Amino acid sequence: MPRLSRRNLEEIRTLLQISIAVPGSRHEQETQRSIERINQALTPSVKRRVAARTAASARRAAKRQASKETRDVYTVVAARAGHFCECGCGQRFSDVGLTGNRTMDHFLGKARSESVETCWMLRRDCHLNLKQQNKPSRAYWLRLFINHCERFGYSETEAWARKELAFVEAKERLSEGVSP
Ligand SMILES: [Zn+2]
Repeated sequence: MPRLSRRNLEEIRTLLQISIAVPGSRHEQETQRSIERINQALTPSVKRRVAARTAASARRAAKRQASKETRDVYTVVAARAGHFCECGCGQRFSDVGLTGNRTMDHFLGKARSESVETCWMLRRDCHLNLKQQNKPSRAYWLRLFINHCERFGYSETEAWARKELAFVEAKERLSEGVSP
């Protein structure tokens, strides 16, 4: 038997309701039973409702866990940085205005990694105006990040950054070679 869409069922129910509302309508009981069956079909089953609720609560729990992890990483990274930008510029963080605020940078990107090793705390001006724009270059920022990893003994992340730097430098040499 073909399944009717919710919309079709609702339309049929409306027609049936109209038909029994007419004074002297015939087959009133059968029509009423049909309306009830449609009502049942349109009410989600308890099983489906429970499943939907469980899925929604699992999604909420995952979200809570993710935001708790972010908070934990942020807290540790902020404590490690103390009062100074971790890029090595020597500037203090400032709560006045917007340029000197603490902002956490995910060096490998937010989607790839969020850990104390792969995040550092930067002043907003270093982060948004320079690092994110690869100014003066991507290699420059990789070198700063390598220094930072060395300082804290983050050998795995440092190894990744060194490989990335070698790749970036090779690409730079190549583009210097081919440009006129
Ligand atoms: Zn800085």
